[in-house]
Amino acid sequence: MPDPSLVVFRWAPGRPERTQTYRIEARAGMTVLDALVEIQRSEDPTLAFRYACRVGMCGSCAMVVNGRERWACRTLLASLKTEAVTVRPLYHFPLIRDLVVDLAPFAAKMKAAGAVFVPKAGEETFAPIGRHAKERRQIDAAVECIGCGMCLSACTMVGWDGGFAGPAALNRAFTLLADSRDGAGAERWPLLLSEDALLRCHGQANCTDVCPMELSPADSILKLRRKSIFQLVRSAHRLDTSGARVVA
Ligand code: SF4
Repeated sequence: MPDPSLVVFRWAPGRPERTQTYRIEARAGMTVLDALVEIQRSEDPTLAFRYACRVGMCGSCAMVVNGRERWACRTLLASLKTEAVTVRPLYHFPLIRDLVVDLAPFAAKMKAAGAVFVPKAGEETFAPIGRHAKERRQIDAAVECIGCGMCLSACTMVGWDGGFAGPAALNRAFTLLADSRDGAGAERWPLLLSEDALLRCHGQANCTDVCPMELSPADSILKLRRKSIFQLVRSAHRLDTSGARVVA
């Protein structure tokens, strides 16, 4: 296959959107991030993109390559098998410039869904959960989120409803609700049961499809929904002090 070209989305404040095509001399093992760095260093220093670790750990280089969310540092050009490789910024985030998006809304969504650990009052500073505990197994399956934002970009409901908490925040909320050390469950449930959280997910599972850490936010959302049924029943019926069930 001939050397590919990179068709890159360009935008800066006050300028119209456009694409710019760069020819690449592809080397064996060259990634999309390598190609962008080479373009920036040797051809076009104005090209803006974000990266940090370069080894598939931090998620900073998340972008949309050939129509799919990927981390550029782990995406080999050869694996794409196309002569023209399209590169654009993540969807559903405000643009800062070229391939760089503003991740502030991501942090805001996390906060709005109560996706922050709140230690239980009076707990020991270190309250270990054994590695074989059921609780640990539940949490481990969902805990390795690196905050890359790819699941939000892939989620059509995030695009449709800017207020929707989105897959990463709901995934995080799931890990916290499963964690016996967390003390904010009572405050978190009303947020999760509001219009812009669990109800809004349509179960398309694009989030799970693109997550580079192989998490399944869709599965976490499903489990939260199951838990929410108990939550709703519990708030509709409460036990009086003698143990008799009464309707609230
Ligand atoms: S759940 Fe996966 S795709 Fe979403 S932010 Fe976390 S690591 Fe990225």
